[in-house]
Amino acid sequence: MIEIKSVHKSFGDVTVLEGVDLSVKSGEVVCLIGPSGSGKSTLLRCINGLESYEKGDILISGERVDRHSKSIHELRTKVAMVFQRFNLFPHRTALQNVTEGPIYVKHQNPQVALERAEALLEKVGLAHRMNAYPDELSGGQQQRVAIARALAMDPQAILFDEPTSALDPELVGEVLAVMRKLADEGMTMIVVTHEMGFAQDVADKVCFLHSGTIVEEGPAKKVLSDPQHPRTQDFLRRMLNQGSEVSV
Ligand code: ADP
Ligand code: MG
Repeated sequence: MIEIKSVHKSFGDVTVLEGVDLSVKSGEVVCLIGPSGSGKSTLLRCINGLESYEKGDILISGERVDRHSKSIHELRTKVAMVFQRFNLFPHRTALQNVTEGPIYVKHQNPQVALERAEALLEKVGLAHRMNAYPDELSGGQQQRVAIARALAMDPQAILFDEPTSALDPELVGEVLAVMRKLADEGMTMIVVTHEMGFAQDVADKVCFLHSGTIVEEGPAKKVLSDPQHPRTQDFLRRMLNQGSEVSV
């Protein structure tokens, strides 16, 4: 469903992605791990057409992602993104945050969009908070609204960029539980995360990115419990010691 072939990306003189290859099948959950600055966010942003890339190809269901093409807006509705800092509209309620895209981007009937949004908020456990504004919600609740908002666009895949990194530890579980449910339902997902337990349990495949290249990939259990590449071994050892993100 998502094919990434030999993608290169630089910011000025700094090369950030140096020939990334990755393929994600429909229904697959891929966890992307790697040190801070290795290019994880940039890769997700390229897949979603938020950044351009200089070389290589990114295909979504066969269609090339090109930030400057006319169809980029349509393509972006097919691949939703969930950010570390939620990025909800602060002056809109939870419900309005979820209906915004379907009504204004997909031109859905407002009543249909409203009913769907209510169902999605219920699905992420927020039936009782639909009319709350983001600043009246906890980080975990805001992130669940963001997930409902992503789902409202009926995406073919969802990209998650460290969805739990900005949360207090006691709120991480409720967001991971929603993500697990989506994975069980067959949603195609690429998840940048430092939650190794989640990766181990939920991911079909784990990719380790280092300095803009995927240096190791394979089944989650294999990569996490028996990493082959010295960089992966080093990263996982440091993750275990620190319990948080490590720098390059
Ligand atoms: P990660 O998500 O793995 O921490 P990023 O993709 O955010 O890594 O960043 C990779 C590298 O690209 C870093 O060195 C970062 O400083 C650089 N970078 C990211 N975005 C920009 C930008 N808009 N302009 C210049 N450099 C950037
Ligand atoms: Mg990042």
